[in-house]
Amino acid sequence: MRSTLAFEVVVVGGGHAGSEAAAAAARSGAKTLLLTLDLDKIGVMSCNPAIGGLGKGHLVREIDALDGIMGRAIDQAGIQFRMLNRSRGPAVQGPRAQADRTLYRQAIQQLLAEQPNLTIRQGEVAKLLIEKTRAQERICGIATSTEEQIFCKSVVLTTGTFLGGIIHIGERSFPAGRIGEKPSNALAQFLKERDFPLGRLKTGTPPRLLKSSVDFSRLEEQHADDHPVPFSFLNERITVPQVPCHITWSNARTHAIIEEHHKSSPIFSGNITSRGPRYCPSIEDKIFRFADKSRHQIFLEPEGLDSDLIYPNGISTALPEEVQRQFVQSVEGLEQATIVKAGYAVEYDYVDPRSLCPSLETRCVRGLFLAGQINGTTGYEEAAAQGLVAGVNAAKHGTCQNASPFVPQRTESYTGVMIDDLTRRGTAEPYRMFTSRAEYRLSLRADNADERLTPLGMEQGCVSSTRAVAYGKKAQRLCEARELAHNLRASPSALRLQGIEVKKDGVERSAFTLLGLESVSLSKLLSCFRQLDRLTTEDLSRLAVESRYKGYLERQARDMAFYEKERSMLLPASLCYEKIDGLSNELSTKLDEQRPASLNDASDIEGMTPAALLTLLRYVKTLALQDAS
Ligand code: FAD
Repeated sequence: MRSTLAFEVVVVGGGHAGSEAAAAAARSGAKTLLLTLDLDKIGVMSCNPAIGGLGKGHLVREIDALDGIMGRAIDQAGIQFRMLNRSRGPAVQGPRAQADRTLYRQAIQQLLAEQPNLTIRQGEVAKLLIEKTRAQERICGIATSTEEQIFCKSVVLTTGTFLGGIIHIGERSFPAGRIGEKPSNALAQFLKERDFPLGRLKTGTPPRLLKSSVDFSRLEEQHADDHPVPFSFLNERITVPQVPCHITWSNARTHAIIEEHHKSSPIFSGNITSRGPRYCPSIEDKIFRFADKSRHQIFLEPEGLDSDLIYPNGISTALPEEVQRQFVQSVEGLEQATIVKAGYAVEYDYVDPRSLCPSLETRCVRGLFLAGQINGTTGYEEAAAQGLVAGVNAAKHGTCQNASPFVPQRTESYTGVMIDDLTRRGTAEPYRMFTSRAEYRLSLRADNADERLTPLGMEQGCVSSTRAVAYGKKAQRLCEARELAHNLRASPSALRLQGIEVKKDGVERSAFTLLGLESVSLSKLLSCFRQLDRLTTEDLSRLAVESRYKGYLERQARDMAFYEKERSMLLPASLCYEKIDGLSNELSTKLDEQRPASLNDASDIEGMTPAALLTLLRYVKTLALQDAS
């Protein structure tokens, strides 16, 4: 065995969690090694060529606020930026961008190559080196499949879908981490022998189509936003050309083909028994679960500016290749479509995240951190956000800082919500972020992620001076803008002279209050308060959001205080959960089966949402009042 002792942190895996973990550990000052199976595959998007979306977009903004690399990479690679939910409130709007796969991978690789303190090497980690002290076990390095030992103080494992990975296409199945890549079996075996609490999950991907074989002429086009908003707070504009995607639908014929052959899908034949992402089901799953739906939407997304591949978003499948061809060709616009790569499902091992501390360090081995799909999540953004937290904490441990670990809280970030959900409740199916998971979602907006997290990141030592300076300037500007908007005031009669109609109650209104009223146009407001001219459009729209949300935020605070006060409330044993309006079927079934003794116990149920807890609390309180009267 050869041995090298040179690193404070070793990150295993160069996917989304690993890239972010390695960058964060190195930014935090630790001498870091990123070791991965294939250098060329660092930053590869295993499935859909897109970053962000509802809930996920918030995570990317949070990663960026903590100086992570995902936001900057997608700004260099995004070929269709769209703000989702634009017609709804800013709290639930999600930035999303389709990506040019090659540009994204290049951007991640470039950002990592430029990162001081970081060494990147190819290799397969086969074992962890763990030493036993009297009190507990702790990590002291890793061993590769070529029997090289590398000693270090912290290890971050980010092996994605590779641990014991098995790919299924129809009745065929074979070991692989992703198509064309071998699985990580030695490490899976090692973790099993060491009694890590392992489970099995699955995910799937659609076939890829040859662009020139698709007839786009009859299909609806979807365009990028006119003014693409960058993900990174460091960027002002997007310079990558923006391209449209197209929309088509499955139909009765598609469904009939899939129904006829569904037994040849491993999902129905019994070859796959593990659970997949409920919110991103395969097309065969959709057709059975939503049998009343006569069609399902399919987005035809280009895989890149110069790519001849199309990613048909919405038809992930593990059916045999011939059946994939038949059902694809039944879809409008795809009658002549050529499948270049077949869709497939992959099963893999994950570690029960309840075995982790909120710092993402394992409870059983000190200095060992886990992040990404290995913790039961699905998605690049979920993986990257965990990677960042694990990287910062691995660096603290690796450089022997006695400081307390970095644990983002539920009150301040979606990252905190996710890590708390995972480490406290665990997950029986691939966990994905949704805005409904957060109790403070009105304050956890994508637009204010920097205000929420950059100062925290500066305290934790993971924010570069470039960002700290840029943030400082912006924070100062916003603070002055707020002060100005609060100080500029006018009476109802003065406002009416400018065409702004408000109640004639003699009460002066501030420019801040007026900014939040949909009925007041910005141009009228500017003619009334000329000093507002000094503010940037970005600051004006931020103030408008804050003003509009003021009342809701107060209500959110009251609701959460009510919940905190009552969280130990006991739940009647005879409660009929089915009768509670506003609880989803899924949650009322879980509550009925698990019969939690208290509201607190109910909050530990997997998938429980803050809104459901409040509904439950109010229902039980009303019942108590009725009983008393
Ligand atoms: P990955 O991106 O998988 O990276 C793992 C890395 O670890 C790789 O670089 C690998 O080389 C390396 N590695 C593994 N073992 C070792 C070892 N022993 N030594 C050294 N390096 C090692 N997400 C969605 O949100 N929606 C979807 O529909 C979806 N579908 C998917 C379909 C498929 C077929 C696959 C494979 C993934 C899909 N995903 C989907 C998941 C998404 O790709 C992952 O959530 C995300 O990539 C996880 O990031 P990660 O960093 O945890 O792992």
